Amino acid sequence: MELLHPWRLDFRQPPELRPAPVVSLVLPCFNEQEVLPETTRRLVALMARLEGDGQAAPGSAIYYVDDGSSDGTWRLIAEYAAAFPVVCGVKLSRNRGHQNALLCGLLTVPGDVLISLDADLQDDLEAIPRMLDNYRAGSEIVYAVRSSREQDSFFKRTSAEAYYRLLALLGVQVQFNHADFRLMSRCAIESLRGYEETHLFLRGLVPQLGYRTSVVEFERAPRFAGTSKYPLRKMLSLAWQGVTSFTAYPLRLITGAGALVSLGSLLLSAWALGIRLFTDQAVPGWASVVIPMYLLGGIQLLSLGVIGEYLAKVYESTKKRPRFHIEAVCGEGFDKERP
Ligand code: UDP
Ligand code: MG
Repeated sequence: MELLHPWRLDFRQPPELRPAPVVSLVLPCFNEQEVLPETTRRLVALMARLEGDGQAAPGSAIYYVDDGSSDGTWRLIAEYAAAFPVVCGVKLSRNRGHQNALLCGLLTVPGDVLISLDADLQDDLEAIPRMLDNYRAGSEIVYAVRSSREQDSFFKRTSAEAYYRLLALLGVQVQFNHADFRLMSRCAIESLRGYEETHLFLRGLVPQLGYRTSVVEFERAPRFAGTSKYPLRKMLSLAWQGVTSFTAYPLRLITGAGALVSLGSLLLSAWALGIRLFTDQAVPGWASVVIPMYLLGGIQLLSLGVIGEYLAKVYESTKKRPRFHIEAVCGEGFDKERP
């Protein structure tokens, strides 16, 4: 039996002998018609440069994944695919969210190396040649991390910092200040295929794969045009997925809190009994009854909510619903053999 994954076989060679890979850029797009012309212009130039420098093999291409946009995004993608042989597109049947659109791209496009990035030009394209250098030097996964968060608002900066700290505290392995701008080799992608999570949090999933990883730093630019497609609601939902998909710690916390409150109430009962038996006073207090009642009621409801969230996850997972449906594809890249 072949123990090594077939995609690993090429990697027995010393890194400097690795041939230039076929590079696929994967960009989820949701209502991005304002940025696509500039993004395409820059990416087409980048691909030509990478091929010219021998960093990317012929056949390398740009893959836009249209996440059910309601504006002219797909029309533009189809136009560019007809005009530039390096541009290809995948259209999802409806909006499935950034993580699902990205996963669709990663699991369907061909190529030896897949690099995911945002369509709004916030991710610095100059980091891509450095990521490819790291790949040639033996990394299967290269994370692009932000060297600073000065661009962000005070709220986003502090909440992101607190969130990453919380994840670390809960034992969830994530790369600090890394979103979804990363390089993955074919070998890593094929391993990712084995994970069938309904609720995706790729930032937490990719570190689970293992393999040799490395990091390149980049300065994140402001969005080139258009508005953010990640409102606070979607961000909070993603943050919650990050916690509940990777640790059962909140459930354990509830058990701990329950044990603590029970112990406290036992002590309180002993105290009340002591007063009743050994003194002639009654236990005073409206406050000592009513406050714990509301407090415990609140904690109980909160705990039920957290348990319910995990249960809902189990429920969703048992249905095994597909995470995306592809409505159409365009471009020459898809004429080639699929991975
Ligand atoms: N995106 C997507 N589907 C969605 C929301 C966002 O494919 O439902 C894409 C979006 O087009 C962009 C990337 O995800 O390429 C990141 O979104 P955005 O730049 O709006 O997020 P922000 O940078 O503001 O966090
Ligand atoms: Mg953005």
